[in-house]
Amino acid sequence: MLPSFSYARPRNLREAVHLVSAPGARVQAGGTDLLGCLHDGVFGADTVVSLSGVPDLRGIRRALDGGLVIGAMTTLSEVAAHPDVVKGYPTLAQGAAAAASPQLRNQGTIGGNICQRPRCWYFRGDFHCARKGGEKCFAVEGENQFHCIFGGDVCFIVHPSDTAPALVALEAVVRIVGQNGSRSVPAEKFFVLPSTDYTRENVLTTGEIVTETVIPPQPRGARGTYRKVRARGSWDFALTGAAVAVTVSGGNVERARIVLSGVAPAPWRVPEAERALVGKRLSARTARSAAAAAVKGAQPLSGNGYKVELLRGAVEEALLSLA
Ligand SMILES: Cc1cc2nc3c(=O)[nH]c(=O)nc-3n(C[C@H](O)[C@H](O)[C@H](O)COP(=O)(O)OP(=O)(O)OC[C@H]3O[C@@H](n4cnc5c(N)ncnc54)[C@H](O)[C@@H]3O)c2cc1C
Repeated sequence: MLPSFSYARPRNLREAVHLVSAPGARVQAGGTDLLGCLHDGVFGADTVVSLSGVPDLRGIRRALDGGLVIGAMTTLSEVAAHPDVVKGYPTLAQGAAAAASPQLRNQGTIGGNICQRPRCWYFRGDFHCARKGGEKCFAVEGENQFHCIFGGDVCFIVHPSDTAPALVALEAVVRIVGQNGSRSVPAEKFFVLPSTDYTRENVLTTGEIVTETVIPPQPRGARGTYRKVRARGSWDFALTGAAVAVTVSGGNVERARIVLSGVAPAPWRVPEAERALVGKRLSARTARSAAAAAVKGAQPLSGNGYKVELLRGAVEEALLSLA
């Protein structure tokens, strides 16, 4: 059962920031994750502040420099189908299309998708785990087949979002507004690893709202894709995945960003794999060596060693699809 809370539906951003800054307030976008967390007692809320009445937060428009501005309240379906995203930023279009189910994509927003809470069954369940202020991560000695193989420290969640790795690969910037004004944070620095703070997943502080993400224009020769591996074809979270954005010039890779999903507590960049591509032709051979570099340093837990090989294959397939 949902706990009782007050509900507010501000009409503009200023009012929204004011309401969200009150103790015990929670932002609601589409509500597909928030309401589940409240229902299951993962956390509580005194007030739920819906952003659905703030028109400025919705929609996709061209930036002055030719890039794209995506309002935080734009639904995943809208992102996945928008012609400018599909044509110019296939990594993001495919990431949005791969998230959840059609119904959830119609209701869930891109802002909510990057701010959603982890799916770890100990965090979501009746366990006082480290992320909820407890003393330990139960996954270390427990059921950990869906947990991380990179970046675990105190807590071993994986970041659940399929759009977050795409935004990092595309060098997007997250715009945030709060009581002290607005700030812009590169998507790569928006997500927080457990070694920095194991009680939260991003840099948002009390009262802050994500307003939009801004993606820079892509250079000539840009190619991209998002490859997701999941247990069920219909809908499921990523077991592993790779968001790739490369620029090819004169037949060789000039620039590459590879960001992994389903394997770390935050979208996980693999610079060594990126370096394995730069200056080379995108071929079966370079795809294979970049994929091998992508899994270097993986530290599986007792039940998720399978992710290493799965990830290697996902990265190789993603790169081959761009060759
Ligand atoms: C069955 C199921 C399967 C799913 N599968 C996938 C999947 O495969 N891949 C995937 O990526 N996702 C998946 N999801 C997650 C789903 O995509 C998210 O629930 C959705 O994207 C969240 O969007 P929302 O607008 O509903 O956010 P909400 O539920 O409203 O909010 C989510 C969280 O973000 C915060 N928040 C929301 N918007 C903002 C904002 N603008 N500023 C600051 N904080 C904000 C809220 O306070 C809340 O904590 C799945 C969810 C379900 C229920």
